[in-house]
Amino acid sequence: MHDINRAFFNIGNEPTAIEINAKAKALKAEGYPVISLAVGEPDFPTPSKIKEALYRAVEENRTFYPNPQGVPELRETVAAYESNRKGVEITPGNVLITVGGKPIIPYTMYLLTNPGDEVILLEPYYLAYPYWVKVFNLKLKVVRLNDDGTIPFDDLKSHITDRTKLLIINYPSNPAGTMLTREDMSRLLLLLDEFPGLYILSDEVYSRIIYEGEHISPLPHNPDRIILLESFSKTFSMTGWRLGYGIYPEWMLKYLVKYNSNLLTGPATFVQYAGITALTDPDVQRDVENMVREFRRRRDYVGERLQKMGFKFHKPSGAFYYFIDVGMDGMEFSKRLLEEKFVAVTPGIIFGPSFGNYIRISFANSMENLEEAMNRLEDFLK
Ligand code: PMP
Repeated sequence: MHDINRAFFNIGNEPTAIEINAKAKALKAEGYPVISLAVGEPDFPTPSKIKEALYRAVEENRTFYPNPQGVPELRETVAAYESNRKGVEITPGNVLITVGGKPIIPYTMYLLTNPGDEVILLEPYYLAYPYWVKVFNLKLKVVRLNDDGTIPFDDLKSHITDRTKLLIINYPSNPAGTMLTREDMSRLLLLLDEFPGLYILSDEVYSRIIYEGEHISPLPHNPDRIILLESFSKTFSMTGWRLGYGIYPEWMLKYLVKYNSNLLTGPATFVQYAGITALTDPDVQRDVENMVREFRRRRDYVGERLQKMGFKFHKPSGAFYYFIDVGMDGMEFSKRLLEEKFVAVTPGIIFGPSFGNYIRISFANSMENLEEAMNRLEDFLK
């Protein structure tokens, strides 16, 4: 073993999807007709108005270092956009622009904890959360959500101690597509009252990819204790642009802006200018609506096919995944489905130890590919 930070040894042996993805790529390179339903990004091009805004920003020489908190015009736009969506006043001083939404996870965790403190994740969870818990030498506590995606509060409370600093929630969720209910939101707010040392990080990157019901955020009800993680990646099909942001209490940003300034500084300046167009341009908003409409059509189609195959699952209300119990080891299922039918899916185990028998199917793929993939899955089951 190398003499490095031992925290990295906390990681390494848990299952990952890397093997499946590498195999899918290798098979494709060999000419096999691989269809990947393992992707976590929209398959649509970025709306053209956003691209034009980027070209323009480059022409205008928006090519110098950005302000390490984010360019002021974008922070103003984000503040107005989020104030409007959340119904509470958010100022540019609450906004930290980041290279995708992902850095908000380690930034928040690092700021709020000391080694040995505890972070609670709700399972199934997005895989970047446990990674950072382990790298920071924090104690990982996992609470399994109820099957309908609601929070088991008694169980959750029994895990909270005076060293529990952070609870991460993610609605609409990756991988299950479940939404936060009003009742659970109220109970989360009570939880913050009951445990004054606790903060919540609310990951809402799928907040505009909604098929049923309404996305609700706890942020406006306790902005001193709740941090928002948002991103341009999914909403505007901008995964490769690397643009996201956090909404923080101002006192936290006093520390994090300096941190960001010494680490990343921020996304490319011209990318940040294009982000203003993403949030404000009416044509872009129409593109988003059309994308969501198309996702809904695919969701309904895939759901119908999966149901006919006999799977039991909760239909996702948001995001673009089905998370289903396959009644056997999901890793084995995924490997065989890829080897025999050239369809790649994500094994459920990477979203938490309780989900070894699950797989995640992304419907961020063309209708034609989804049809073909569902036919192959049906054949495979026979
Ligand atoms: N949170 C969740 C739940 C996600 O699924 C993703 C992307 N897969 C992210 C955060 C991070 O996205 P990005 O860094 O591209 O903004």
